[in-house]
Amino acid sequence: VTDNDAIACVRTVAALRHRLRDWREDGLSVGLVPTMGGLHAGHMALVRSSLSQTDHTAVTLFVNPKQFGAGEDLDTYPQDETVDSALLAGAGAHLLFAPAGDEIYREGHATAVRVSGVGEILEEQFRPGFFEGVATVVTKLLLQALPNKAFFGEKDYQQLQVVRRLTADLNIPVEIVAVPTVREEDGLALSSRNAYLDEDERRAAPALYQTIRAAAEKVAAGEDPAGAEAWGRDALEKAGFDPVDYVAVRDAETLLDSRFPGRPARVLAAARLGRARLIDNVPV
Ligand code: AMP
Repeated sequence: VTDNDAIACVRTVAALRHRLRDWREDGLSVGLVPTMGGLHAGHMALVRSSLSQTDHTAVTLFVNPKQFGAGEDLDTYPQDETVDSALLAGAGAHLLFAPAGDEIYREGHATAVRVSGVGEILEEQFRPGFFEGVATVVTKLLLQALPNKAFFGEKDYQQLQVVRRLTADLNIPVEIVAVPTVREEDGLALSSRNAYLDEDERRAAPALYQTIRAAAEKVAAGEDPAGAEAWGRDALEKAGFDPVDYVAVRDAETLLDSRFPGRPARVLAAARLGRARLIDNVPV
């Protein structure tokens, strides 16, 4: 255990377990906040939720190579552990788990977690293998830490549903808590990848949120989902997004087609703007 700017930091699974076992022996409930670092106010909202709902909060910082495809931004993904540690210390988080890559995937690692259905659509079709990478690392982190609650952002809404599915299916005894998306004043969802936007792209970026909100309003007003999707795709293309991977009106839980009026629905979209691939979603 080392002290990184006044937050205790562990780098091995053994040290993480040791720390958390002490907490549990003291009767403290544990919150886990998995992140890939590059922390911003969205991540900090997860940390604050955890601090308010559990006694002690552990934050993980691991850029998971298994959830990046060939040609994606693994090598340039924004990382600065010193800044992240200071932010977490300032917020009052209790422990940082920042493992080196080979601590998580030891030589010979051969197991993967694949979630059918909700893990095979939307994002997965444009980033093949993405959810297998996410599901595998989240399963490992949950089993390493065995927290009472784990906190995930609605920003990555499909990921949240995949995590709910896998914890239910694998009987992992943890409560998954969803935290609402934190946005800039103009509506753009905070994301580490927003750093890739140049000035013009940054000005165009809020159109993603505006468009899915307008599409959600259309559906709420009775327009058919396919019409709202086509309208949204067109609006994003006109705003300069290229390509638009999807604008989808889906059942809020299964993320399958939203066919049943009266069930909660969600509008999800992904589109590229310059170097950044942005995703966002809103409830109908
Ligand atoms: P990441 O570091 O991008 O893997 O994100 C770690 C966690 O932070 C995930 O649960 C994300 O959904 C969540 N998160 C990222 N951006 C936001 C945001 N703008 N608002 C709320 N949660 C977020």
